[in-house]
Amino acid sequence: MKMAPSQQVQRRLLDWYEEHRRDLPWRKSQDPYLIWISEVMLQQTTVKAVIPFYEKFVKRFPSVKHLAQADLSEIYEYWAGLGYYSRARNLHAASKTLAQQGFPQSYLQLLELPGFGPYTARAVSSLAFSENVGVLDGNVIRFLCRYHNLGIEWWEQKNRSPLQELADLWVQNTNSSITNQALMEMGATVCTPQNPSCMICPLQKSCNARTANRVTELPLKKPRKMKQIWLWEAQILKKKDKIAYLENTYAPFLSGKLIFPGSTKRMAQPPKVYDYKHNITHHEIYVKLKSDKKIGNLKRSKLQWYSNNEIKKIHPVSLLQKALDVLNKA
Ligand code: SF4
Repeated sequence: MKMAPSQQVQRRLLDWYEEHRRDLPWRKSQDPYLIWISEVMLQQTTVKAVIPFYEKFVKRFPSVKHLAQADLSEIYEYWAGLGYYSRARNLHAASKTLAQQGFPQSYLQLLELPGFGPYTARAVSSLAFSENVGVLDGNVIRFLCRYHNLGIEWWEQKNRSPLQELADLWVQNTNSSITNQALMEMGATVCTPQNPSCMICPLQKSCNARTANRVTELPLKKPRKMKQIWLWEAQILKKKDKIAYLENTYAPFLSGKLIFPGSTKRMAQPPKVYDYKHNITHHEIYVKLKSDKKIGNLKRSKLQWYSNNEIKKIHPVSLLQKALDVLNKA
C-alpha cells in the first residue's frame, strides 16, 4: 500500500491548512499536556461539544501537576457530561507519572502510560514534539481511503499497519505536527463522511477516488455489531442512606466495575416489564430494580456501601445514575 504523496501535494495540503484552519483553543500552544487533554476529549464527541468542557477543565487543572494533585472525585466532576469515566481515571493515573518525569517525546514511551493507545500516543508525540509519525483517527482514515482509492476493511486489525505506514508517508519530510493537523482538518471539514466538498478540495486533481468515481462508496462501511438484549435484575439493598454495590463479575457489561448485586439474562425479545432501559455499546439493557431486602447467597464481605452522593463522585456511570433517579422518584 506504499503510495507516498508528492511534495507538491503535501505543499498544497499545508497551504490550504494555513489559510483555512479553525481557530481552536488547544491549537494556541504546543503544550503536550493541553494537546493530550484535548485529544482524549475529542475521542468522545465533536469539536463543538468539547470546547466548553476543555476550557473549564484546563482552567481548573492548568498543568499536569495540578491534575496529578487533584482528587479523582473532583476530576470526575469536571468530566461529567463527557461519559467514558475510565478515560478520566486514566488521565489521573498517567498524570502522576508525567508530573514527576515530564512528558516523553516518543510515542513508544507514551504508549506505556495508562490510557495512551496508538492514537493518543502518536497525536501527543507528533503534535507537541513533531515526532515523525502519522496520526490515524477516523477523519484521517476516511481521507486516506478516498484519496488513495482504498476499498479495504479499514476496521480490521490486519489493515491497520498498512494504513499507519501510509499515514507515516504523508508526514515524511514535513513538520509532522502541522501535517497531521492538516490531514485531520481535511477529514473534519472538507472530506466529510456525508457530502464531501470535492469541488473546493485542494487535492481534488490528484484524488484517486474522485478519478475512479468512487467517492460515495469509500471508505467501506463497517458492519454493525448485532445488539444483544439483556435483562438485568438489580438488587437494591439499603442500609440507612447507603446502597450496596459489588465489583461486577456476573454481568457482561461494565466488567470489573461497581454495580448493584443481581443477575442477568440474555433475552430474545425485550421484556414487557422493566423500570428503565439503557444502552452500553452493543448491549441493550432492560433493568428491573428489586428491593426485597433479601441478601440471598450473597457474601456480605463482597458488598461495598455508598450513599448516592458518594457513588456519583467515585463511580459516575449513567446506568447506575438512572437507577438512583428511579428510586428517588418512587
Ligand atoms: S476530492 Fe473529495 S474525496 Fe477526494 S480528498 Fe478531496 S474531498 Fe475527499
